Amino acid sequence: MPYGAGFLWQPGILWLHVLSDLGIGLSAFGMGWALLYIRTKRRDLTMRNLYMIFAVLSGLTGILALGDIWLIWHADYLASGLFRLVYAGVSLWCLVAVLLTVPRALTQPSPQQLSQANEALESLYRQSEEASRAVIDNVLDGVITIDEHDRIRSFNAACEDMFGYQASEVIGRPISLLMPDPTYTEHDRYVSEYLPIDAGARAVQARRKDGTTFSADLSVSAFDVDGKPHYTGIIRDITKAKQAEAARQKLLKRLTDSNTELERFAYVASHDMQEPLRMVLNFSQIIAHDYADKLDDDGREYLKIIGDSAGRMRDMVQDLLEYARLDKDSGRYDKVDLRVELAHVLENLRTLTKESQAVITYDPLPVICGNGVQLMRLMQNLIANAIKYQKPRRLPVVHIGCEDDGDDWRISVRDNGMGIEDAFIDQIFEPFRRLHSWEGIQGSGLGLSVCRKIVESHGGRIWAVSEPDIGSTFFFTIPKNPKSG
Ligand code: ADP
Repeated sequence: MPYGAGFLWQPGILWLHVLSDLGIGLSAFGMGWALLYIRTKRRDLTMRNLYMIFAVLSGLTGILALGDIWLIWHADYLASGLFRLVYAGVSLWCLVAVLLTVPRALTQPSPQQLSQANEALESLYRQSEEASRAVIDNVLDGVITIDEHDRIRSFNAACEDMFGYQASEVIGRPISLLMPDPTYTEHDRYVSEYLPIDAGARAVQARRKDGTTFSADLSVSAFDVDGKPHYTGIIRDITKAKQAEAARQKLLKRLTDSNTELERFAYVASHDMQEPLRMVLNFSQIIAHDYADKLDDDGREYLKIIGDSAGRMRDMVQDLLEYARLDKDSGRYDKVDLRVELAHVLENLRTLTKESQAVITYDPLPVICGNGVQLMRLMQNLIANAIKYQKPRRLPVVHIGCEDDGDDWRISVRDNGMGIEDAFIDQIFEPFRRLHSWEGIQGSGLGLSVCRKIVESHGGRIWAVSEPDIGSTFFFTIPKNPKSG
């Protein structure tokens, strides 16, 4: 018998069941559909299988409720029983699946926990944003951010000082307002095309609010915000630096001019002094030769003093001339084999070496680029000094060393001479600075100044280390690739 017979076909009970089952069935289908819909739309949901399980279960519940309506009129209890069996099986499967997800469901953060974490993240983000704004506002350089339409998006405090605008006055306006350039047209993309990005600083003309312009260095780098290109420009007002550079150049020119003038004067003076000096020397020699018997001892002594002084004066004038000439004949640089130049030096100093019985040794010397005559003069002055400034009765031992110092060659001249007190070691490179009386060891006091000039014109430097009574070592460097003189 169908269910309806059990209800004695009373319409009230019958329709009560029909309508209730219909309500249950339709809401179960609705629920199933809703679960499937959410599952399809929210692909990021965790435990997506649960949605599927409950959707299937809701569907089956709907079918069961509608089946109960069918059974009111039709006694298909076998089919109903089989369906319930399937339903029971699916329910059991759902139960197992739900039980398996329990541990995972318990560890899922609650919406409250998620919103707390979210708030913490937001506050962290705010803090870092405030920190970076504080940094940007306190840097001395101007920092401007521009969007993909060349509109200003940020403008730090240094920019406000530099341009005279408040940030609020320029935000949203085109960057060409601040950096107008005659070569820039409205069709150019100011930053992306007109200014090179990530290419180091570039000099631009910037315009203040009052219309005046100033020179600035600008470097631009690009970054993305939501996939759109933005640009950060770091801008530095170089007006003061340019003024300082111009003043420095002016000063340098004045210095160079007065130096040149001084050297020209030294050259002319020493050149012109040679002639009268020669006369003094010649005539004192003539007097000593022809009139010696007419002079008494004092007269001959005075004449000798005149002759010696004139001779010394001649040496000084010649050295001065050589010093002044250095700039004139620096000329072009060639390959110079220092071994060959050293051989010339040893030949030139043969008499001095022989008389003093000096022992001279040397390391292998390189071929360098420079002025051969000057480099020979340099070595000759240093080696002659190493022999000259020796203690009495001690034989000079001189060694010329050479070391590879990376970009330079470092040449040294070491002696076992009388040495130099620390207090004077830098002064000896000044012109006419001697630590010995004329009577003691002959010299003009210009040799080391000539050496310094030669080394510096080759782009190197010269210095000395010394220990009184033990000896001195003079070092000089010559760049392996000197700039042509
Ligand atoms: P000069 O030798 O003509 O006097 P220099 O310019 O060559 O002039 O040297 C300046 C001074 O430095 C010398 O008078 C001497 O006192 C000192 N000097 C130079 N070389 C040496 C050396 N190798 N040892 C000790 N003193 C030195």
